[in-house]
Order: sequence, then C-alpha cells, then structure tokens
Amino acid sequence: MSFRSLAEILNKCKKEDKPFWRVVLEDDMEERLVTEEESFEKMKQLYMAMKGADIAYEEGLSSTSGLVGGDGARMGRALSEGKTLAGPFMGEVMSKALKMGESNACMKKIVAAPTGGACGVIPAVLLTYEEQFGAFLQQMIEAMYVAAGIGQVIAVRAFISGAAGGCQAEIGSASAMAAGALAYLNGGDGECITHAAAMSLKNLMGLACDTVAGLVEIPCVKRNVGGAVVAISSADMAVAGIRSQIPPDEVIDAMREVGESLPRTLRETGEGGLAATPRGIEIKNKLMS
Ligand code: SF4
Repeated sequence: MSFRSLAEILNKCKKEDKPFWRVVLEDDMEERLVTEEESFEKMKQLYMAMKGADIAYEEGLSSTSGLVGGDGARMGRALSEGKTLAGPFMGEVMSKALKMGESNACMKKIVAAPTGGACGVIPAVLLTYEEQFGAFLQQMIEAMYVAAGIGQVIAVRAFISGAAGGCQAEIGSASAMAAGALAYLNGGDGECITHAAAMSLKNLMGLACDTVAGLVEIPCVKRNVGGAVVAISSADMAVAGIRSQIPPDEVIDAMREVGESLPRTLRETGEGGLAATPRGIEIKNKLMS
C-alpha cells in the first residue's frame, strides 16, 4: 500500500472528493494491477469467508488442549434468555467474537484479519451489523476496505503481530480497523473513521501478549470480545463528534513506541503476564507432561 499515514488517505479523499473506502480500493487496484471488479470480488470473498466461518461454528468442538470451546454458544444462550446487560447488538457481537476466536483455536477455517489470534473482532462487528441493521452487501464490502486501509497503515507505521508489539498490535489493530468500519457504516466521514480507529487503539494501548502455554487460546479468545466492544464504543464516540486529542497517526506511532518498549516476556513468548501466573504455569506443565 502506498499510504504511510491515515492523513495521506484523508488528503486524497479531500483532494479527489472520494470516500475513504474508494481511495483504499483504488490503491489496491494500482498496487495489484487489478480492475475495480477484481479488487471488489476479492474483498467480497474475504467477507463471505468470514460469514462462512461464523456459520460453521461448532458448539461441541474444543481445542486440542481442551481449554477452549463452547463459550460462544454459552454467550448466545445467555443473550437469548435475556440474562445479559449488553443489548442485542453488543450481546451478539460478543457471542460472534468468542465463536470466531474458538474456531481459530480449534483449527477451523477463519480469516486472519489482521491475525489469527485477533480474527474475531472484525467479523463480529460487521456480520452483526449486517444482520441487525439490514445493510446491503455493497456497504459491508466498502466497510471492509475502510478496515483494510486502517490496518495497512498500522502495519506500515507500527506492527500487527503480538511477537513484534504485544497484543495491542493484534487485538488493538483489529479493534481500530473494526471501529473505523463501524463508524463508516454509521454515517461517519473520513475524519470520523480515523478518530474511531485512534480511540480504539488508545484504549488498548500497552496490552501484553501473554499466551498461556504459548497457545493462541488464553487470553486470546476472550480478548476478541474486548476488542470488539471497544470498537463499538469508539465508533459511537466518533460518530457523536468526540475526537482524539492526539492525532490518529501519532496514536499509531505511540503504539509502536510502547510495543518496542515491551519486554520480550510480553511479546508472544508465553513467559510473562497471565502465562507466568501460578495457574498459567500449572496449565503449561500439565500440557507438557
Ligand atoms: S495474546 Fe498474543 S497471540 Fe493472543 S491475540 Fe493477543 S497478540 Fe495474539
């Protein structure tokens, strides 16, 4: 991608009077030398694969370690029985985020957007939005371009892997991408999109990658819920006119700086944080014996 900042995307939007998603789409066409139809079809395939993964969720499946499985369905049941404080939208997003995270841990097909560990955030908010707000497929694919544009700038300017920058780089980036996409779907312009992304990233800044036993299971699956919920609140704040006092690109730079400062033990080594708790060590020892 040719953009090194969100500001560059916004400048192009203004200069050419184009929406954020179209600027990202045209950049993809230039970079991959494809037509608009080919680019759109590829993005549609990704979105449909997310849908397929959601439909293919199996309640009875558990990961090889036996630590993960069934929580997405549990959440869905609590929601339909009226036991949750979250409303229908947030509740369904939580259920879908868990289901996708579990599917990843259970080696089922998922879309790693931006990574396998953080694969639940974007589909949870987008699929639920389409279902509950009756959006057209065209709008959903446009929202995917918005998410992709944000993710690509974060990848170029900072990082999107837990090994490089901690979980803020995975769940944080996924949340920023989802927040921008939701802000767009809810009527936000380019500036609103970038501030939604910035607020998500700020709220998850400093998050460690501390996988128990080195598996992408604990805390990964449940962190997808956190990332999705932060995305919704950040999109709502942005649409309400609330702005990040720190410019979005500077937020990304701060995330990079925080990630680079994180000790090795908190960057996907499975040695610090939750992995180093007595229970975390007990789980690891049990799995290795
Ligand atoms: S804890 Fe690590 S592996 Fe798990 S989602 Fe976060 S960054 Fe990815």
